[in-house]
Amino acid sequence: MLSIVDRVVDSEMDGMVADLQTLIRQPSVSAKKQGLVECANLVSAVMKKAGIKSDVLYLGDDKSIPPIVYGQAGSRSNPSKTLLFYNHYDVQPVEPLELWDADPFSGKLEGNYIYGRGSADDKGELITRIKAVEYFLKKTGDVPCNIKFIVEGEEEIGSVHVEQYLQKYRDRLACEGVIWEFGYVDAKDRPIISLGMKGLLYVELVSVGPSRDAHSSLAVLIENPAWRLVSALATMRDANGKILIKDWYKEVRDFTHQEIEVISHEPFDEKEFKEEYGVSRFVANAQGSDIKRALVGLPTCNIAGLNSGYIGEGAKTVLPARAMVKIDFRLVPEMVPEIQLQRLKDHLSEHGFGDIRVNFIHGEAAARTGISDPFVKQVERAATEAFGSAIVSVSSAGTGPMHSFAKVLGSPCISVGGTYMFARIHSPNEFARVDLLNKTTKCICRIMENFSSY
Ligand SMILES: [Zn+2]
Repeated sequence: MLSIVDRVVDSEMDGMVADLQTLIRQPSVSAKKQGLVECANLVSAVMKKAGIKSDVLYLGDDKSIPPIVYGQAGSRSNPSKTLLFYNHYDVQPVEPLELWDADPFSGKLEGNYIYGRGSADDKGELITRIKAVEYFLKKTGDVPCNIKFIVEGEEEIGSVHVEQYLQKYRDRLACEGVIWEFGYVDAKDRPIISLGMKGLLYVELVSVGPSRDAHSSLAVLIENPAWRLVSALATMRDANGKILIKDWYKEVRDFTHQEIEVISHEPFDEKEFKEEYGVSRFVANAQGSDIKRALVGLPTCNIAGLNSGYIGEGAKTVLPARAMVKIDFRLVPEMVPEIQLQRLKDHLSEHGFGDIRVNFIHGEAAARTGISDPFVKQVERAATEAFGSAIVSVSSAGTGPMHSFAKVLGSPCISVGGTYMFARIHSPNEFARVDLLNKTTKCICRIMENFSSY
């Protein structure tokens, strides 16, 4: 089925590419606070040019917190339904620079590829949303439902203030549905519609020994903090990945029949995946549908970094004064980061490791939109029409601030977009594909049309 704006999307591709290049050419690295306000202003200008009302909004007087860009296009034909687009204008650092074939902020176009940091993540996704609105306004003088945008500048550093922004501007951002900032397209050009994200609890455990590094002959007398830390870690997880902390899984619910059905249809190429990562087996020897269920719905306890003592060349006989480990726990729906943190602390003291310090770094709950929500079918229909086929996924294995949106706005969130899975996001030579920008824009147009009857 054709959308009334399909032809406009096709005929205006050069304009979309040019606007994306303009956005890429404005560096906006949140980790370095580089160019953020400039980029927010630029996004706002691109929106205004598209016919979208836009403001750059701050959280308060502290202007060191990057602003959000708000956008709004009201519908005359259907003012009762509002769809919100969530995106981000910040990007990851470009290093290592020497591995780029061209300037990371050049936005170089080569055939079907536009290269540059942010070309896919997330400026490429953002431009498809803006253009979908622009083309509707151009073609019909209206949009099929009310449209709002929130474009933040701290996604790549953990969306530190997005929940506060949502609270502060909750009335302005009120909506009935949210289209998430990204969406992958697999190697067979099928978009993956993801209905959720895992949560995260990130901590540091620090074990402190003698007041300074000591001669290792004293290991007969002085307890080694690295051994204490390793012993503590060994009590937390078994060899099959099961977390041994009391009540860790207490709130975790089983998949519904409907979820199991959807998960069974999610593609996963076990052989290709193992080759890609150079591994011969999975945790707990997972096979078949267990692999997919683990990705969607298993909590994890992952050692992200481990540091103690001498790690230079050759031998140094030393008893270190301190040992530290960084751990990320992925969480699934109903797990509350603060409660899990307390369970971890209780576990350590109950096992005789009460002296190990637990530093809380980051906590974020999981979120999941129910499969039976009518919004899901609408997005699936739109994506299938625009791309030829689509895959529905119960949840991404990754983490994002989706729970904040669900909690503050009370709206279902769905992730769909046009980022090719191997588009090297966060890596050198990141690219966007022009053909996928085209299809994604058509998909967004259809989502807007379908949403008018949500
Ligand atoms: Zn990213």
